[in-house]
Amino acid sequence: MVKKYGLKHVSTGDLLREEMQAKTKLGMMADSYISKGQLVPDDVVIGMLEELVANNHDVPGFIFDGFPRTLPQGKALDEMLAKHGERVSMVLSLELEDKELVDRLLKRGKISGRSDDTKEVIESRLKVYYDQTAPLKEFYKDQGKLVRITGQGSIDEIFESMTSVVDRIIA
Ligand code: AMP
Repeated sequence: MVKKYGLKHVSTGDLLREEMQAKTKLGMMADSYISKGQLVPDDVVIGMLEELVANNHDVPGFIFDGFPRTLPQGKALDEMLAKHGERVSMVLSLELEDKELVDRLLKRGKISGRSDDTKEVIESRLKVYYDQTAPLKEFYKDQGKLVRITGQGSIDEIFESMTSVVDRIIA
């Protein structure tokens, strides 16, 4: 997606893991939430993103990955983009049955070494998803921006579904 559209990929999870590896104060604080499968507080994540958006005026667009994860984050993103005369163009919701999702994460855990890819933490992440993140679907549906995409299938097939939607919208 980044190559095809020249977008800047922003994964809040990756940014937080970099902080954890560098053992910064922010990273150590984030670790205490991530390792339990809880969300890092909104003000921390929003602050991180504000800086990034302000420092990247020149990019043709962003692909936010794993952000926003709560309604306050979604509202803050709208405000932060509006300050720069920008807006969310579309939201791609990659959807998969819980069982398949858990299987994939457990498989990833064997190679990722991520402290949150364990059965217990995955269960907590799923619960957090339904409680705090899923309501965002309604938020973006009301704005006519939500596109649901099946996460079932091969990487190539999912790439195809995503790009066909993006192509239609940017055409
Ligand atoms: P991810 O790499 O997107 O799976 O994120 C891993 C973990 O980082 C999540 O389970 C959260 O603890 C934390 N995290 C990542 N993005 C966010 C976010 N937007 N808001 C709060 N916590 C986040």
